[in-house]
Amino acid sequence: MTKKILIVEDEQSIIKLVKFNLEKAGFQVDVATDGQMALDKVQQSVHDLVVLDLMLPKMDGLEVCRKLRQEKKHIPILILTAKADEFDKVLGLELGADDYLTKPFSPRELTARIKAILRRVEAIQETQQVSKKEKQIQVGDLSIDLEGYEVMFKQEKLDLTPKEFELLVFMANHRGKVLSRDQLLNTVWNYDYVGDSRIVDVHVSHLRDKIEVDSRNPVYIKTIRGIGYKFEGPGYK
Ligand code: CA
Repeated sequence: MTKKILIVEDEQSIIKLVKFNLEKAGFQVDVATDGQMALDKVQQSVHDLVVLDLMLPKMDGLEVCRKLRQEKKHIPILILTAKADEFDKVLGLELGADDYLTKPFSPRELTARIKAILRRVEAIQETQQVSKKEKQIQVGDLSIDLEGYEVMFKQEKLDLTPKEFELLVFMANHRGKVLSRDQLLNTVWNYDYVGDSRIVDVHVSHLRDKIEVDSRNPVYIKTIRGIGYKFEGPGYK
């Protein structure tokens, strides 16, 4: 699956250079030119890593980093800094960035660092998935048995298709996170699937018929207008 990188930088020449090189390396690239835009983009879409410049207009990079850590605790962050002596602060416990590069940097070095971070994150996620296999997901009246491929709603076994099951598990594992139609399509169907994202809507609609008390007023799978869906459940937040 193509990894999506968010570049937060206001200097057009650097954006161009980094974007070009990351796309050449097979990444999908999203750009934010100030701190607020970065926070908005991270809310609206799912990124695998953030490349964050510290010198930004409106809100500086340290503040952006702090806010990202508050909201999306695990998103990997690679900091770009003009001052080598800033990295103690950046890598310290306070902000907890994953890595940093001092300007000027080589695009090849940046790509290598990003790949290293993503490899690390993937290794962690795989371990988590293995341990999750033994468990159940319980949200409200919904209980998903990941080993037995069974879903119960109010103690009643639901008849789900394999795709409905996968879609439900993926969404439940990302509770509270906005998931775009394209992301669901790529993850649940096929990494290279090029198709109509309405297939996602159809499956969500079937799932709702099965797990929602009132499918026009969903409690579990919320629609995020213009983007996709978010799994919540009763009393979420
Ligand atoms: Ca800058």
